[in-house]
Amino acid sequence: MKKILILTAGFDDAHHAAARNLRDAVESLDDDARAEIFDLFADGRGTFSTLFHKTCLSLAQYAPILWSGLRAAPDETAAMERSFGGFARMHDPLEKILLETQPDCVVSTSPAYGHLIQKIFRSHRERPFRFVTVVTESLVASPAWFRAPSDFFCVANEIVADSLRVGGVPEGKIKVLGFPVSPEFAWAKNDLPLPAANELRRVLYLVHSGKKKTGKAVDRLLEQSDLHVTVVGGRDAELRAKLLDRFRGEEKRVQILGWTNQLSELLRSHHVVIAKSGLAVHEAIAARCPIIVNHFDTSQEEANSKLVEKSGIGVVVKKNREAVEAVKEAFDHRAEIWNGWRRNLKKISRPDAALRIGELILGEIEKDQPARERMPSFEMEPSRVMRLPSQRNGQHPHPSLLPKGDRNGNGEASSNHPNGMVPANEGTGTGMLLCDFHIHSNYSDGKLSVPEIIDFYGERGFDCICITDHLADPRRLLGKISELANLTLGPDQVAEYFTVIERERQRAWRRYKMLVMTGIEFNKDGYTSKTSAHLLGVDLKSPIDAALDIPETIEQIHAQGGLAIASHPHIMKSEWGKNTLYLWENQEKFAPMIDAWEIANRNNIFNDIGLKRLPFIANSDFHKPKHIYSWKTLIHCQKNPEAIKQCIRRNEHVAITLYRDFAPATTGFNVTLQEQVEKKSTLPIAA
Ligand code: ZN
Ligand code: ZN
Repeated sequence: MKKILILTAGFDDAHHAAARNLRDAVESLDDDARAEIFDLFADGRGTFSTLFHKTCLSLAQYAPILWSGLRAAPDETAAMERSFGGFARMHDPLEKILLETQPDCVVSTSPAYGHLIQKIFRSHRERPFRFVTVVTESLVASPAWFRAPSDFFCVANEIVADSLRVGGVPEGKIKVLGFPVSPEFAWAKNDLPLPAANELRRVLYLVHSGKKKTGKAVDRLLEQSDLHVTVVGGRDAELRAKLLDRFRGEEKRVQILGWTNQLSELLRSHHVVIAKSGLAVHEAIAARCPIIVNHFDTSQEEANSKLVEKSGIGVVVKKNREAVEAVKEAFDHRAEIWNGWRRNLKKISRPDAALRIGELILGEIEKDQPARERMPSFEMEPSRVMRLPSQRNGQHPHPSLLPKGDRNGNGEASSNHPNGMVPANEGTGTGMLLCDFHIHSNYSDGKLSVPEIIDFYGERGFDCICITDHLADPRRLLGKISELANLTLGPDQVAEYFTVIERERQRAWRRYKMLVMTGIEFNKDGYTSKTSAHLLGVDLKSPIDAALDIPETIEQIHAQGGLAIASHPHIMKSEWGKNTLYLWENQEKFAPMIDAWEIANRNNIFNDIGLKRLPFIANSDFHKPKHIYSWKTLIHCQKNPEAIKQCIRRNEHVAITLYRDFAPATTGFNVTLQEQVEKKSTLPIAA
C-alpha cells in the first residue's frame, strides 16, 4: 500500500478543498494508494492551535513584510516559535503521527508543516518520506512557504512560480500544475460555445451568504431578454425559499438551486459565472468559465480577484449593478470581450491539476521504493493489537491494524464489528452486517454532505447504508412551501442527488468496502398525525414522482427492486415529536404492501411493531453526527444489496442493536488521528 498523509490547515475553503481533491485524485489514480487528511489546526483541538494557525497564516498571506523580517533572523523556525508561542507544541503531535503512520509521502497544503517537519528531522540522517508542498496561493507565495525544504513545490500558475524563483527556489523543484480543484473538472467535454442568435446566454449566479439583494440582482439580469440565469443559493435555505417564491412562473428563464455537489457541471454549462472571490475563481478557471467577481473579504480572496484581472479572464466589480453591466458588455460587439476572456482562460486552465499532482506524488513514492523497503514495517505486532484498550470497549480497529490472520482471502481486512461479531466477507461468505437505512444529507435537512456521510459511516466500519433525503409531496405543501421547500430535496435536484450518490457509492466500496444505497423518504404530511405518513424507499435506481399517492409510490419502489419501509410509524417521544401514524392506523391496508416497519427510529422504540410480528428494521434517522448513537439494524447474510433486501423482506436473520462507538484509541492509517493525539486517554461519548 502507498500511504500518503495530507496535512492541511482547513481554516478556509481553499485549503480544505485542495486536500480533499488531492486525496480523491491519488486514490482514483492508484487502487493501492491510501491518502489520509490530517488537520493539526482543526477547530476544537485547543484554542491555541487555532489562534496560532490564524496568526501564522495571516502573517504568511497578509504581511509579507513581517515575514521577510523573520527571514532575516538567523534561525527562522526559532523566530516563528518566539513570535507565536505554541508552535513548538505542534511538534510532538506531528512527530507522533509521522512515526505511527509511517507515510510514504507527506503532502502539505499549509506553510506551517514544512517548518515543523524540518525541525522534527533536523537531527536525522534523512526524513523517511517524500515531501510535497502544494502552495495554495494565487499570486504571491510568502517566504514562509518555501523557507523550509520540500522535495517539490506545486503552484497554481506562473505568477506564483515567479515568486518562488525570486525567493531562490531551484527551478527543478517548482511544478506549475494548477490549483487542485476536484478531479471531476478533468472530465471536461468541449467548452460551451457561444449560443446561437435565438438562444439564451447562460449566467450562473453563485450567491454568497449574507448577500441581501440577490432577488433584485436577478431581476436586473432578467431585464436583458437574452439571458437565462441559474441561481445557486448555497446552504442559505431561507434565501432559496424566498427566491423560489419570487420567481415562480419564470422557470423558463430562472432556475433556483440550493446547495449543489455539481459545480463543475454547472460551470461548464454556463457562459459566465458571477461569484464571490475565493475557491470559485480556481474552479471557474478549471472549467474555462469567465468569471465576474462581485465580492471579496479576506486578502486571500483579494489575491484571487487580482488574479482574475491580471490574467484577463473576467472582471471584478463592486456592486450588483456593475455585474449586470459587465455581463451585457461581455456579449456586446459579437462578444468581443467574452471571447478574449475565454482565450485567456484556455491559456491558464489546468482542470486536471489534482491528478497531475497526484501523479507526481505517486511517481515520487515509486522512485523512492528501494529506500522505503529498508524501513521498518508498518504492520503492528499482533500482541500490540490485542492490547488495544478500545477493543475491550467494543471499538473496532481499522483493518490496516489487524494482524494478517484476521484478513479475508482477498488480502483485504474485513471490518470488525462491535461485540466481536463475525463480519461478512464481501459477496461470498456470510457474516453480521451493520446497517443504517435512514440517513439525511444536506440535500434535505441533514448537516453532512453525501461524501461526509460516506466517510463518517465508512470509518465506523458500517457495511451497508442507505441515504434517504426527504422528498415532499407538492400537493401537500400548499401554504407551507416557503417553510418546507428548503428542508426537502428540490424537484430540480433529484437527478443530481442520484448521480452524486452513485459516484460516492463507488468510492465507498473502493475505500471502505461499504455498500451504499440511494433512497428517498417520501413525506406525505397531512394536517394531523393520523393523516401523516413518512415512507422510505430503499435502494432506488431512479427518481419517483413526489406527487404519487402512497400505494402508487410503493408500487414504483417495488418495480425498481427497492424496499418500502414505514418510517417512525408509531408514537414518538422524541425532541421533534410530530407523529406520523397514518400507515399504522391503516395497517390492514398497508401491511401487505410494506416490506418492513421501523421498530426503532433513533432513540424511539416501538414495541407494538414487535407485538404484531411485523417485519422490522431499526434506523438512526440520521441528521447530524450525534445521531449515530442510536438504534441500528444487524443482518446476518452476504454483503450484497439483494441478499440484504431479501432478509428484510422475509424478516429472517434481522436483529437490532443500540449503537455505541468510542473515539478511536488506535492509530490506523484511516482513523482520525487528531482524536488520539489530543485525547491520550480516550473514550469520550457524545451526548
Ligand atoms: Zn421522517
Ligand atoms: Zn427521516
